[in-house]
Amino acid sequence: MTEAYAQTLRDNILSIRETMAEAALRAGRRPEDILLCAACKTRAPEEIRASAQLPVDCFGENHAQELERNWLADAYVNDAEGRRPCHFIGHLQTNKVKKVVGRADLIQSLDSVHLADAIDACAARMGLVQDVLLEVNVGGEASKTGATFDGCRALLEHASGLEHLRVRGLMTIPPVCDAEDEARRWFARMRGFYEELRDAGAAMDILSMGMSADYAAAILEGSTMVRVGSAVYGPRSYPGKTV
Ligand SMILES: *Cc1c(COP(=O)(O)O)cnc(C)c1O
Repeated sequence: MTEAYAQTLRDNILSIRETMAEAALRAGRRPEDILLCAACKTRAPEEIRASAQLPVDCFGENHAQELERNWLADAYVNDAEGRRPCHFIGHLQTNKVKKVVGRADLIQSLDSVHLADAIDACAARMGLVQDVLLEVNVGGEASKTGATFDGCRALLEHASGLEHLRVRGLMTIPPVCDAEDEARRWFARMRGFYEELRDAGAAMDILSMGMSADYAAAILEGSTMVRVGSAVYGPRSYPGKTV
């Protein structure tokens, strides 16, 4: 990792923080009430470690193996303040649960009863309570993971009977939108659903929505946590393509 890249990380993160604060103030909200989760999939441990010295609140991992590798490499450690929280934000298979429970401070992608039971059983064996978010497929897209609104209601009901699982809120990735007002409509629907569950008695305090392309729109509609990847670290490169 070069000095120039460290400078780029700093510029990117400070600029995102500024945009987040502007959106918060525009919505009549306090900037400190919205967390920045750095989505660090595919990044090298030393790049993540460099970003951990900057004002990010937590890290979001998509793959159990990367979480394990980065954890063991101390990639989430801020030199002055210690390890920053690490979240799991990708699709979680039940056979990977034991690599993630107890390491992830929050699993943001719970979307089935089967997975809830697996996480609860693993957390019970480890003697801890695992915080989770329910992942909502707000656009009802076949290509995406996440539960429907009704699926979430059922999942919440089921989770209330699990002692080692605590549902802290909701996460979503809305359909890709060309226009900001279209994105805002999806975020507003999520906010409505979140408020509905809270009004019905769910003790939730996290609404995780907004990524590089739309985090300001998400904040205007009530997001309490944005998950930002490419705007922090630059474009992701996979063998043969850039995403
Ligand atoms: C990759 C990813 C993000 C960040 O996406 P960017 O567009 O790079 O900001 C956010 N959430 C999830 C679940 C992701 O997989």
